[in-house]
Amino acid sequence: LSQLFRPLDMLGWVYRTIRQGVIDMGSMFDLIDTRAEVVDAPHSMPLHVERGHIRFENVEFGYDPDRQILKGIDLDIPAGATVAVVGPSGAGKSTLARLMFRFYDVTSGRITVDGQDLRDVTQHSLRSAIGIVPQDTVLFNDTIGYNIAYGREDATAEDIASAARGAAIAGFIQALPQGFDTRVGERGLKLSGGEKQRVAIARTLVKNPPILILDEATSALDSRTEADIQATLEAIERGRTTIVIAHRLSTIVHADRIVVLESGRVVEQGSHAELLRLGGLYAEMWMRQAQEREEGEDLAAE
Ligand code: ADP
Ligand code: MG
Repeated sequence: LSQLFRPLDMLGWVYRTIRQGVIDMGSMFDLIDTRAEVVDAPHSMPLHVERGHIRFENVEFGYDPDRQILKGIDLDIPAGATVAVVGPSGAGKSTLARLMFRFYDVTSGRITVDGQDLRDVTQHSLRSAIGIVPQDTVLFNDTIGYNIAYGREDATAEDIASAARGAAIAGFIQALPQGFDTRVGERGLKLSGGEKQRVAIARTLVKNPPILILDEATSALDSRTEADIQATLEAIERGRTTIVIAHRLSTIVHADRIVVLESGRVVEQGSHAELLRLGGLYAEMWMRQAQEREEGEDLAAE
C-alpha cells in the first residue's frame, strides 16, 4: 500500500513546491507593483544621510482610502538610536517599515531623514541608505552568493563569506555541494524560513547601511539560532539608526526606546523598565510572554 502512496506524496510535494513558488512570485510582483506607484519627484535629490535622525510627523496612512491604518504617528528616532516597535499583530508595525522604505507614500504628515522629506529624495538613494530584513524574505532564482551580495555591486567573496559567518549561515552553505554557487529559490534549493532570514541578515551585513530596519527578523528561527544571531544583530545596530520590530519582547529589552503601537496609534513609549512600571499594554504582553517561556521550559524539562 505504501508503494501506492509514494507517488501521491511526490505529487503533494510538487504541488506544495509550485504553490510556494507562486506565493514567492506574488510577493515579487507586489514589490514591483508598489515600485511603479511611487515615483521620484521631478526635482528629487539624492538622500544625504548625515547622522540618520528619523522623524515621523503626524503620519496618516491607509492602503485603501476607506480604511485608515496609521492614525497620526509622531516618532522621533535620534541618530544612532535603536528604537523597538511592538504591539499586537495588525497594529501597523510592518506598515511603518514599508513607509520608511517608501513602498508607499504617506496620506498626510511626513517622514524625514536628517530633515529631508522621503518624497523629495530619489528612491535609489533612499533604498541604498536603508537595510531592511523583512518578515518574509524573497530570494532571487540565483546563487546563494548572489542573494547575499545583492544590494552592493562591489562585494568581494570575502565580504560575502564574512557576512555569512555573521548571520550564522556559513556552516550551512559550506556543507552544500556547490557552496556559495548553489542555486536557490523556486528553481533551486528550497530554503526554510529561518535559512532565508539568515540570508537576508547576511545581505544586510554586506550592504552596511546607515539605517537599519529589522521586521521580526528572527521570528522564523528557533530560539537557539535566534540567540546566536542576537549578538550579531546587536553589534550591527551599534553606530546606526535602527528600527526593530519585534514579536518576542525578550529580544528588544536592550533598545534605547520601545514604542507600543496599537490599532495604528502610539499608545506607550519608554524604556523597558519604564514601560513595566507603567503597567499597561507592554507590561501585560511581557507578563504573558514570560509565562509562555516558563511553560515552554517546563515542557522541555518533561
Ligand atoms: P503588523 O505588522 O503590526 O502585524 P501590518 O502593518 O502588516 O501589521 O498591517 C496593518 C494593517 O494593514 C492590517 O490590518 C493589515 O491587514 C493591513 N494591510 C497590510 N498590508 C496590506 C495591503 N498590502 N493592503 C491592504 N491592507 C493591508
Ligand atoms: Mg508585521
